[in-house]
Amino acid sequence: MPSIAIIGAGAAGTAAARTLHASGVDVDLYARNGEVPFNRTLVNKGIAIGLLEPAQAALPDTGAALRSETVRGLDPRARRLRLDSGDTHAYDALLIATGSRPRTLDEEVIGRDQAISGGRLTTLHSAADAVRVRDLLATTQPARVLMLGGGLVASETASLLTDAGHDVALITRAAIPGANAIGEHVARRLRDLHRPQHAAYLERTVHSIRTHTDRISITLNDGSQVEGDLAIVAHGTLPAAPAPWTGPDGIPVDSRLRSMHAPRQRIYAAGGIAVHHYPGHGSYRIDHWDDSAAQGIHAANTLLHDLDMADDPGQYLPSSTFSARIHGHTLTGVGHPALGTRTRVLSEEPLITAHYLGDVLVALTGVDAASHLRELMPRLHHSDPVTESTVPVTRQHV
Ligand SMILES: Cc1cc2nc3c(=O)[nH]c(=O)nc-3n(C[C@H](O)[C@H](O)[C@H](O)COP(=O)(O)OP(=O)(O)OC[C@H]3O[C@@H](n4cnc5c(N)ncnc54)[C@H](O)[C@@H]3O)c2cc1C
Repeated sequence: MPSIAIIGAGAAGTAAARTLHASGVDVDLYARNGEVPFNRTLVNKGIAIGLLEPAQAALPDTGAALRSETVRGLDPRARRLRLDSGDTHAYDALLIATGSRPRTLDEEVIGRDQAISGGRLTTLHSAADAVRVRDLLATTQPARVLMLGGGLVASETASLLTDAGHDVALITRAAIPGANAIGEHVARRLRDLHRPQHAAYLERTVHSIRTHTDRISITLNDGSQVEGDLAIVAHGTLPAAPAPWTGPDGIPVDSRLRSMHAPRQRIYAAGGIAVHHYPGHGSYRIDHWDDSAAQGIHAANTLLHDLDMADDPGQYLPSSTFSARIHGHTLTGVGHPALGTRTRVLSEEPLITAHYLGDVLVALTGVDAASHLRELMPRLHHSDPVTESTVPVTRQHV
């Protein structure tokens, strides 16, 4: 029986482990030293706001053998992993599902390191980050939180902390935060939802930070100053892989999620680490939970196919949903909006937008429109464009 190793026990790794284990192959699932596989989406929605203890964010058992040891690197030709202990582990096929790491503030930001070591500047990516945020917020009620970034995690966290009674200010480089990821129309709607709730410093960047014993003050690039008890950096993510892929580029994969660096070496990649190519478009990466899980299953099925144990799963096309609850409204997306070169508003109330690459529908986004998006999902990646008449509930078209 072939021996399969999976590095990374998050969305992609655990979904793949479950699929492979169910097919009867031997699977070793590697998590970092001391890490219990956990649901990262609960870092802000559960742990940071004190709703859940880290242990409550644990993922269910996959049936695969769980090895809590960081993988330091691998030798693709020898088909061996190098483990933190110095041991090695031989495999017949390998899935890399190591996800991403958070972008931090640039090194040039004066006072950055003091703010981090003083505990008042943090990312919000790991359970440890969330515990740090939770504990600091517990000592300062209400706290003044500076949210650096305007993507979905930043937006959702700003909303959660506001609901918890804190005073959140948004600081974003973009005029319409999130427009690149979810399209301009939906991003504008989100900005309008935030407006009555937060002080917003749009089109600004951080120039310097001063750390005091009880607060930090941030000077922005236009010279304005803003004070807070805590600043959270939510500037998106970069892929994070073991050697030889430790750089910021991720692991390019083919249409079946096989590593393009090692085409014949039975290496696959899925989730936040994988860099895809869409026909007619450049490369892209998706860092959402359901899509990462779908990639994990797809890569596992390709792997089984390469071992003559399953049919070819075909080309991987991003078709999963993602959502965020923001100030009482639900943003939902399907597919990968950033693939689109043209956006069409299908409905203003509820807001539904369709994202096209040429005449192929590659994604849908909407606000309070989850059921409508679900009905339109089967049209993704087809070239029969959605027309207004196909949208189930539309009160006003533009
Ligand atoms: C605060 C927050 C909220 C989010 N909320 C949502 C949401 O609501 N909806 C949504 O769709 N997405 C959300 N996301 C994004 C989502 O969590 C990620 O897209 C998803 O977890 C990516 O899955 P993955 O399997 O690629 O990586 P992960 O789930 O991060 O798993 C990778 C695992 O690999 C481990 N690992 C890394 N390197 C090694 C190594 N060398 N050896 C051993 N193990 C290693 C890591 O420790 C990690 O456990 C959120 C992200 C954050 C940070």
